[in-house]
Amino acid sequence: MAGVMQSPIRVEDDEARNIERIRELKAEYGDSLIVLAHHYQRLGVHACGDITGDSYHLCKAAANTEKARHIVFCGVRFMVTSAATLCRPDQVVYHPDRNAGCPMADMANLPQVRTSWLELGEFVNTARVVPVVYMNSDLDLKSFCGERGGIVCTSSNAGKVFDWCFERGERIFFFPDEHLGRNTANKYGIPRDQIVLWDPRLPNGGLSAQQITHSKVILWKGYCHVHTRFSVEMIEKARAEHPGIKVIVHPECIEQVVAAADYSGSTGFIQDYVVNRMRPGDKVAIGTEVNMIHRLSVQHPDRLVIPLVRSLCPNMFKISTGDLRDCLENLETWEPVRPDPAEMRHAKVALDNMLACAG
Ligand code: SF4
Repeated sequence: MAGVMQSPIRVEDDEARNIERIRELKAEYGDSLIVLAHHYQRLGVHACGDITGDSYHLCKAAANTEKARHIVFCGVRFMVTSAATLCRPDQVVYHPDRNAGCPMADMANLPQVRTSWLELGEFVNTARVVPVVYMNSDLDLKSFCGERGGIVCTSSNAGKVFDWCFERGERIFFFPDEHLGRNTANKYGIPRDQIVLWDPRLPNGGLSAQQITHSKVILWKGYCHVHTRFSVEMIEKARAEHPGIKVIVHPECIEQVVAAADYSGSTGFIQDYVVNRMRPGDKVAIGTEVNMIHRLSVQHPDRLVIPLVRSLCPNMFKISTGDLRDCLENLETWEPVRPDPAEMRHAKVALDNMLACAG
């Protein structure tokens, strides 16, 4: 066919239309709806959040939301199931894309953790071991912890969680992120020979009896592929290219990277650093998920905010403004997130311990 020129579809136009429609829908729902958006969400989705933050702050928000009956959570699955566990029975939590999971969370499953716990019990009294599960985990693992007097930790509160644990036991079993556990233990001053790595694929975690009985912190061999990409060489390169630049990384990075950086902290800490602590003209190179860094650089053009390297979390990237719009337009029929009640009961204990311990 000749002659008719179709104007190309502009992604930005779609994005703007979606955001406008999302705002209309939110206005229609008023106080009965709240949208929570993690800092790693895409720019447009983040802009639609009534509350934005890291997983700890969003979970707190879900627990404290008074008026909203509908909670739409733009994040990955472990955050959404935690919010569904913490909210009231009359509230309903929705996930715009149920396929958004977390590969790190998948690195520990309940049969493995149960087996490991039993194996540990052959060497030490597990009544004196406090299980600590990172927020980035399935709900059944949080339930496992709650049932055994344990706690959930996030990158915002890990230090306080260690205090809490050592008031109640003599040893921590930390899963599934080796690096957050190791960086927290280092900061806490645990001697290196008392921090051991448990490989769930090996008998007794691949550890000797002496290593287990001597340990203070037992770390699960799991990691985040987004954060373990960063290296000390990248930090050196950023400093060479931008004299005076500060480097800030997430504690899911390897310990050498954390040691080489100027600061390390949760996504909430990084957000606060760029927004409130930097001044016009300041420079920072950040080791965390690239969408967050991109957003901060767009929102603060008067300061240099760059990634150490572009490292994208494909799962956080799954939710688009189109998905959020679709969810809000069809909320009445959207499948709510309703975890197993038995799992929720014990998981809530571990999550409540987290909220109580960190204040
Ligand atoms: S950034 Fe890492 S820990 Fe966070 S959701 Fe993505 S894979 Fe999981």
